Amino acid sequence: MSLIRPPDIRLICFDLGGVVVRTCASPQEGCARAGVPYRPEIETPEVRARLEQAGAAYELGRCSTAEYFARAEAALDGRQPAAEVALVHDAWILGEYRGMDRLAGAIRAAGVETACLSNTNERHWELMSAQPLAYPAFAAMDTATPATCSAWPSLIPRSIVPSKSSVAYPPGESFFFDDRTENVAAARNAGWHAELIDPREDTTARPRRTAAPGLGL
Ligand SMILES: [Mg+2]
Repeated sequence: MSLIRPPDIRLICFDLGGVVVRTCASPQEGCARAGVPYRPEIETPEVRARLEQAGAAYELGRCSTAEYFARAEAALDGRQPAAEVALVHDAWILGEYRGMDRLAGAIRAAGVETACLSNTNERHWELMSAQPLAYPAFAAMDTATPATCSAWPSLIPRSIVPSKSSVAYPPGESFFFDDRTENVAAARNAGWHAELIDPREDTTARPRRTAAPGLGL
């Protein structure tokens, strides 16, 4: 029989980028993959701050995908057209980490619910949903519908994708994996079990060790 530890864990939540889904490591890589020119001169602190602001609004669902691309073009002082921003955006996600689908499947087979809790965005959600063969763990997660995280505003700032069922479990029965220290700290402060993931390594290793030992993976 499979064992899930710590005891009484009923939900295991995964961040997407850097945990389930591989992403580009830099704008330079994103531009190269998208086949658009990389313009290092536009990477100033001011531009980064404006892009961050535009991205946050988009992740929170406060603007459409097209509006986000237009806002990003404006943030870049018009030096990267919205059409190029869109190409880089689409090229940013690179498929899943190896073994994540097997891990998610084993967790679910053991009777523990899986869910995504992530600052992803509408366009990436659409791309992942449209390619279940490239994103099998994402496709197999119990959670399949993005929704603004109104239930947990203090848990993960700017979160978009909790599952409806996940909010039914007490924090102490939930485990969360994220590649950002501030999100892990926020989850722990809310009473969750939470562990930091290094996106440069095997991202399934820590979940296998800490949340789902005994699954034979
Ligand atoms: Mg992440």
